[in-house]
Amino acid sequence: MEFLHESIALGVDLLILGLCVREYISYKKSVNCLKAAPQLALDGDLKKFVSVQKDKKIPYAVVRGTVTPIGVPMRSVMSPSVTAVLQVIKLSEHRVTRGFAGFWTEQRKLIHVSSNEMPFELRNNDCNVEIIDALNAAVLDLDVVYDNYEPSSLSFFDHVFGFFSGVRQKGLQTTEEVLRDGSFITAIGELELDGKTLRLQPSPVGPLFLTTATKSTLIKKLEEAKSSMIVKIVIFGTVSAVLISLIIRKICAKRRQDRDERKIKETLEKERRERRSRTRPLNLTTEQLCVVCSTNPKEVIILPCGHVCICEDCSEKIRITCPVCRGKIGTKAAAFIA
Ligand SMILES: [Zn+2]
Ligand SMILES: [Zn+2]
Repeated sequence: MEFLHESIALGVDLLILGLCVREYISYKKSVNCLKAAPQLALDGDLKKFVSVQKDKKIPYAVVRGTVTPIGVPMRSVMSPSVTAVLQVIKLSEHRVTRGFAGFWTEQRKLIHVSSNEMPFELRNNDCNVEIIDALNAAVLDLDVVYDNYEPSSLSFFDHVFGFFSGVRQKGLQTTEEVLRDGSFITAIGELELDGKTLRLQPSPVGPLFLTTATKSTLIKKLEEAKSSMIVKIVIFGTVSAVLISLIIRKICAKRRQDRDERKIKETLEKERRERRSRTRPLNLTTEQLCVVCSTNPKEVIILPCGHVCICEDCSEKIRITCPVCRGKIGTKAAAFIA
């Protein structure tokens, strides 16, 4: 295929462009619903306020309060002095891999993630909101309480194996992140009054946020991410346009070339026919005529059988067997009968 490289590049570019557009749309949607979400104070009036809403729900609301465990808080595995309500332990492998061009590049690959959570609520002024499904938050600001990197000691065999397989391990990193008991955070999601308990959970309207940032900072961050996405869309869009125009130009050039070649061939054919008809003897006997069309003189010798039985025109159509002896055609050559 002639445009293979361009087509592959275009495919990859369009894929990235599509992902960027999707990200942009999701950022835009998040910003819009975040801007529309009311910021509610955690106080005695909140329950009353939610209870008069439709279905006792506010589809997307912002509350701020102190993280308070419901029950005994859990302790960090790696730093036991820290108490927390959420805990994520990640094990990742650092390795160098050989890329396409033969260069070794460093990569980090997540091998294992384990997380723990316990019921907790946000509390302020004697009012509390239980947070549901916190680990599924789109933004979840956690504190890193443990981070350890251990370089691997590789044997001679590992080095040799790594050289041939193109992957060499460099080390393992373990990190522990927690949502500390007592930290002051902003939670954004669906607020619901269930019996006497207020709950904040993932909302069908927008993503769940559990962050140390305020609503305005979060909007600013999302706006920035949105703008950077626009820049990416413009870049990848331009690349797509350039590639598409390149492919179209190549297709047009190819068509033009094909047309020109066909024209030259037709002209040559015509000239040849005219030349032959001019030099042709006027009264040919039946034996002298091509056995296929019976119009032109015999002009071509078929080898290896040696039969001179067809004209040049028919010789173009007859390629496999000799029309006289049915022998297989090896080659054909012009025959000059004196
Ligand atoms: Zn013929
Ligand atoms: Zn033959």
